[in-house]
Amino acid sequence: MEWLLRSGVGQKSDQPVCISLTNTLEWRSGKHPKEFLHNYVDILTWARKRGAIPNELAVGMSLYASEHPSDAEKVLSDAKRKREMIYRIFSSLAHHLEPNSDDVKELNEILLNVLTRAQIAWNGSRFVLEWNTKAQDLNCVLWEPIVSAADLLISVEINRVKECANEEEGCGFLFLDESKNLSRKWCSMAECGNRSKARRFQQKQNMRGREMQS
Ligand SMILES: [Zn+2]
Repeated sequence: MEWLLRSGVGQKSDQPVCISLTNTLEWRSGKHPKEFLHNYVDILTWARKRGAIPNELAVGMSLYASEHPSDAEKVLSDAKRKREMIYRIFSSLAHHLEPNSDDVKELNEILLNVLTRAQIAWNGSRFVLEWNTKAQDLNCVLWEPIVSAADLLISVEINRVKECANEEEGCGFLFLDESKNLSRKWCSMAECGNRSKARRFQQKQNMRGREMQS
């Protein structure tokens, strides 16, 4: 049975799909990275929640994955590798550095593959990319993130991509800064913002303590 996969359908977040994918690994540069993708169903659930995969197709894919565990495992590890490639490209740009050319080359190769299978279609109000797919196409969870990465890289919005400023603990969370004056620094104030402020306060206190002793 064939299904129609459409880009940009049902997105429930203001963050682009490619950025959302990179954030399925938290604290990636810290002491205790937190992985959200432990098995194929995890990435399928992520894609379904992001609107990248329709629910009905996800059910078929989940069934196919359970019947073909080694295929599903391969797709998952490949997806995680590609996630890190996407992360490295956007993280470099967030730090105003030129991305690694091997990463860009790899993204281009994958993009070519994904676009070979795509076509543009009118969705009632604008053109979108769409793919004919089957439940056996386990790697279709990545098609939309790859297109989203290419879209964002050539968009004017690219200057809004930032990485959480909590580098001391290796947060590594990427986000699109929607503030007017591009002032957002943290993944969230409650998480890294307050922790960094508390740490800086503690450092100041320690310095003061040392000055008093000397
Ligand atoms: Zn953070």
